[in-house]
Amino acid sequence: MTEPLLVQKYGGTSLATAARIRRAARRVAGARATGQRLVVVVSAMGETTDRLLRLATQIHRQPPARELDALLATGEAVTAPLLALALETEGVPAVSLTGLQAGIRTGPHHRRARIVDVAPRRIVAELEAGRVVVVAGFQGVVADTLDTTTLGRGGSDTTAVALAAALQAVRCEIYTDVRGVYTADPRVEPRARLLREIGYEEMLELAAVGAAVMHPRAVEIGAAHNVPIWVRSSFHPRDRGTLICREPKLETRQKVRGIAHQAAVAKVTVVRVPDRPGIAAAIFTPLAEAGVNVDTIVQNVSHEGLTDVSFTVSLSDIDAVEALLPAVVARVGAVGFVADRNIAKVSIVGTGVLGTPGVAARMFQALADAGINIEMIATSEIRITATIPAGAVETAVRALHQAYRLERL
Ligand code: ASP
Ligand code: MG
Repeated sequence: MTEPLLVQKYGGTSLATAARIRRAARRVAGARATGQRLVVVVSAMGETTDRLLRLATQIHRQPPARELDALLATGEAVTAPLLALALETEGVPAVSLTGLQAGIRTGPHHRRARIVDVAPRRIVAELEAGRVVVVAGFQGVVADTLDTTTLGRGGSDTTAVALAAALQAVRCEIYTDVRGVYTADPRVEPRARLLREIGYEEMLELAAVGAAVMHPRAVEIGAAHNVPIWVRSSFHPRDRGTLICREPKLETRQKVRGIAHQAAVAKVTVVRVPDRPGIAAAIFTPLAEAGVNVDTIVQNVSHEGLTDVSFTVSLSDIDAVEALLPAVVARVGAVGFVADRNIAKVSIVGTGVLGTPGVAARMFQALADAGINIEMIATSEIRITATIPAGAVETAVRALHQAYRLERL
């Protein structure tokens, strides 16, 4: 019988120094000693990715995405062999592989490539030879050109879950610098509670609207292939962490499981657009082509054939939007546009959110009681997101956490 296969992923903080790399290696060795086969996915050391990005922009004002990917992928290419070396010193045979060697194939979109296929022949062969396989996370290659791509910030999680799915691992363990998934960001709400288990759907919504603990795409792949994902702290080995799985044991009958927030958001309003077919497409197609991700969109009721269209983008995209919009405004015959860079979003997430009367009203009341003005509202089946002034975001998180009594089990 072959031994069960486990995928572990170590984040950048957990690998930030030689001592921490050695500590991660000891944890891997411990798991190996219990008779499991292991694939270990690594992020770049500490702030390496940010440092490489800064370096590139010191040399080129707008570095082409292809070169950025080639550069950023080097961060993970450093940690993988270092961890393999540390494993060798622990007496554990190990081999490091790049994304290319690990068979991670992606689509052609640099900086946010999606994994389209995993061809893990080499990994399987190394496992059969009895080695622990250390894979550089966050990177893949375009199938035909072999150009290096990266999977978006935080994308090592996605490498790990995709490998767990492809190799039919028993689970994927994510070792990180937080203790797991909380009911809200504990740096903002000290009474936030660690969730023992959470379903893929709820986790995906939380991750998509700001809970930075997991890369959203990783949760999506986990859901599609039913890979249990166990988020744990590398610094508190005895902690139980959070299990993301298909059928979580519900700890409470609460309808709301968590609060997520995003601080760095901008809101754009295209003012007095003629209200006729094709206008929304004319505004949003150029943004999409520029790779700008637009979320909450509100089109107002029109007056005398004119309407305002508002939407939000991440603050990091606002310069690109401001560069594109003058041409769009001219083309659609709008009066102009305004951008507000001081915006945040706060969301409540839970499977009971929209199906239960009163859950939405309680959110709006809590924000009103805290004196917070809601600018836009967006909903999914299990989420309500309010767009609010940036300065109010921490107050909003605490008010909502309190309103739904999330501090209680
Ligand atoms: N090193 C990459 C980043 O900082 C990928 C990751 O850490 O998951 O975004
Ligand atoms: Mg991460």
